[in-house]
Amino acid sequence: MSNLPFKPLQFGDITIDRCVESEGDFFPAAMFFPDSTEAMIDAQRDWLEPHFMKPKSIGGGMLGGIFTYVIRTDRHTILVDTCVGNDKERTMTPNWHMKQTGWLDDLRAMGVAPESVDFVMCTHLHVDHVGWNTQLVDGRWVPTFPNARYIFHKTEYEAWEKSQDNPAMDGCFKDSVLPVVEAGNADLVTSDYAVNDAIWLEPSPGHTPGHVCINLKGGGKHALFTGDSFHHPLQVAYPEWSSAFCSDKQMSADTRHRIVEKLCDTDSYMMAAHFAAPTAGRVVANGDRCKLQVDE
Ligand SMILES: [Zn+2]
Repeated sequence: MSNLPFKPLQFGDITIDRCVESEGDFFPAAMFFPDSTEAMIDAQRDWLEPHFMKPKSIGGGMLGGIFTYVIRTDRHTILVDTCVGNDKERTMTPNWHMKQTGWLDDLRAMGVAPESVDFVMCTHLHVDHVGWNTQLVDGRWVPTFPNARYIFHKTEYEAWEKSQDNPAMDGCFKDSVLPVVEAGNADLVTSDYAVNDAIWLEPSPGHTPGHVCINLKGGGKHALFTGDSFHHPLQVAYPEWSSAFCSDKQMSADTRHRIVEKLCDTDSYMMAAHFAAPTAGRVVANGDRCKLQVDE
């Protein structure tokens, strides 16, 4: 496991934190990245261990997590992606079925009351990014954050609305997306959407049809919340590796190449949805490839 915790980032008066639902072993690399080989993975181990991959002496597998970014500005509290959630029937993934975690209590312990959240932004509408959008109250799914605007990309929403029964959704459109729209709490937005001058979307299609990244700037710093454009830091070195769960593998790879090029050797932080602690890092050149460099 990682020996460095996630450290909240301070961008002027903006704080970036995480509320973690689960962290530890990630999927097996050979299954998750069909184009990966053991030799290619081993070639990157020097910077991936111990935070992002276990040493081979204890199995050598990928590490990851499921968490929500909590962004607090002087005016707004914003959540980015909402994990798997509690009480959801998830027959495709036994680990996520009828989950019971203290995620909402942990969020409260961070000083974030559900009523105080202003925006819930979903990078995409997969099952592990929408779960806490809703909670079960008296047998009904209701928005967990009653005063928040939920920001869904229109293209993403329409794609999954048409294929709600796709096994990849595992029922999440019906219990975690639709009830928010029916309650009138959702804004279906296009790629030029911005919360304000400091927080704006950037299209990153491929993993899903309407996947978006979120830009944040403050105090002279910049971060890109990359959602599931990248699942593991290995893809910073190998942007050509799409996951087994990408809906358009070529488009997903094109998006990753573009992001790596844009971030490489800049001061921007890359904040992905599933990178294990310490999670935040900068993309830097590493020979003829790139790597993720974390703050020590
Ligand atoms: Zn995900």
